Amino acid sequence: MTRLIKPYISFDEVEKEFREIFESGIFTKGKYVHEFEKVLKQYTGANYCFLATSATTALSMALKVIDVKPGDEVIVSDFSFPATVNVVEDLYAIPIFADVDKTTYNMRPEELESKITNKTKAVIFVDALGNPSGITKIKKICNKYQIPLIEDAACALGSSENGIKVGSIADLTCFSFHPRKLLTTGEGGAILTNNERYKKVLEVKLAHGAINNNGKFDFIDYGYNYRLPELQAVMGIKQVVHLDDIIRRRQAIKAEYVKKLEHYGFIPQATDTNVNHNTQSVVFYVPKNINRDALCIYLKEHEIESTIGTYCLSDCTYYVKKYNQRNPIAHDLFKHTITLPCQDDCNINEVCNVIISYVKGDNK
Ligand SMILES: *Cc1c(COP(=O)(O)O)cnc(C)c1O
Repeated sequence: MTRLIKPYISFDEVEKEFREIFESGIFTKGKYVHEFEKVLKQYTGANYCFLATSATTALSMALKVIDVKPGDEVIVSDFSFPATVNVVEDLYAIPIFADVDKTTYNMRPEELESKITNKTKAVIFVDALGNPSGITKIKKICNKYQIPLIEDAACALGSSENGIKVGSIADLTCFSFHPRKLLTTGEGGAILTNNERYKKVLEVKLAHGAINNNGKFDFIDYGYNYRLPELQAVMGIKQVVHLDDIIRRRQAIKAEYVKKLEHYGFIPQATDTNVNHNTQSVVFYVPKNINRDALCIYLKEHEIESTIGTYCLSDCTYYVKKYNQRNPIAHDLFKHTITLPCQDDCNINEVCNVIISYVKGDNK
């Protein structure tokens, strides 16, 4: 089977540190967590970084930092993984789904501006499949209305716009280290910010609500435990150093796909010219005369893994029933986009040949 993605890490790379952790007995809150946070700050340029158990807990935390309350409106990009909106729903806030650009798949500025009301408490911009195109424009609008911007950068570690790395653009940025992402710790995530006030809230909230008063804990707030363990942090540290190299290889793979498939009407996800896309996923808009789901099945029959681009959140059964908001572009992308395998061991020629044979009707 040609897999969509393979982890860019081996056991050999972590064996020494894992052994040391087992021998020391320090499995949490140790030097590796500290080191991984430091490395992420250096890599992204963000002032502050807090590790978390996933992007979902990171996003949830980000909303709590902003003090999103029941009845508040939170505007979310509509083309994403459902975790983006589930965290809003979980706080009894009201998600407002914003439609996306049909080429970059990201929240459209005009769409955002038209949906801002006096109840808007936060905006969650999603770097669709790791693509940050348009985040700076969205940031400007948020600044104008003084609404905090959370970036769901679950897929976007290593991407940048205008030479500024994701992690130091939005008010709060959340990464995921799930195995489907470029850097994985099994499960894991992080929250980054440049905002001193948010940093202070995060320090307390992520420590069960406690501050350390000369070795004595004072629980000045209620809080949470979303800590990433030491073993996971080691995995992260080992991968950051290779990230830019991995991204270059993925960009080359995407270019190869584009060269072969564009001729057959497959349109690649676009990025703005000022953007460096980490190519978390290679996603194409499938020509309208081709059934995307049938193509995925055909690829599977040929031992090639593929999947949809991602979801239209407002189309999820739960959200249709509850809010019945609809966005035509996000809906269309959900129906017609495909993610193709992108990792060092995949034979792009072979994958493309199978796709082309399907397009030409050899399957009939
Ligand atoms: C993967 C993903 C998430 C969820 O990340 P977890 O770490 O699994 O919680 C959230 N949003 C987007 C856009 C994602 O791609």
